[in-house]
Amino acid sequence: MGVNGKHGHPAKDIGMEISESEVIKEFSDEEKIRLIQSHFTRIMEILGLDVNDSSLKDTPKRVAKMYVSEIFSGLNARNFPEITLFENTYGYDEMLIVKDISLYSICEHHFAPIIGKVHVGYFPREKVIGLSKVNRLARFFARKPQVQEKLTMEIAQSLEEVLQTRDVAVYIEANHLCVASRGVKDTDSYTKTSYYGGRFKQRALKSEFLEQIKNTG
Ligand SMILES: [Zn+2]
Repeated sequence: MGVNGKHGHPAKDIGMEISESEVIKEFSDEEKIRLIQSHFTRIMEILGLDVNDSSLKDTPKRVAKMYVSEIFSGLNARNFPEITLFENTYGYDEMLIVKDISLYSICEHHFAPIIGKVHVGYFPREKVIGLSKVNRLARFFARKPQVQEKLTMEIAQSLEEVLQTRDVAVYIEANHLCVASRGVKDTDSYTKTSYYGGRFKQRALKSEFLEQIKNTG
């Protein structure tokens, strides 16, 4: 089942099944919110919730807005942050570290939160990046259904591209609420993932990076 050519725009037909992802990409944010609102209402009804209850009646709209405008905004390439680069005129060529970037993502297997920290290191070449842009870039890739391994790679590859260097390291430590709240119900376990490119593959530099990010409060 899927969308077929008979309909002008699938968004007009709320409730129909949609299976072609390229069609979904055509939706405007407003259309996405309207459709998700409708489907989420149905989910709540199926769960036996009274969607007319004064406390619940606006929940589908709130969830839809939160999905499209906030926690899944990274699915829309137009939301990729504008990156400001500066000429490295001062010739800084040591390791640069941005640590403790707050991570808030959603696990793509359970749609449950992933909460943690991202640490990034790189050796500048001709360009340096505005520091807050590293945070924005990490946040962009976190704002979609994710797995931590993929998130790590996406942040690293994007930084390599933006900074025109392979000398990039990314380290993520995160608590997956799907693990904490269901299944094995382990609230204390952390998942650590890392990426070491270029010079960071050298043992001494990798150790220095790990040493630097370790001293967190
Ligand atoms: Zn999960």
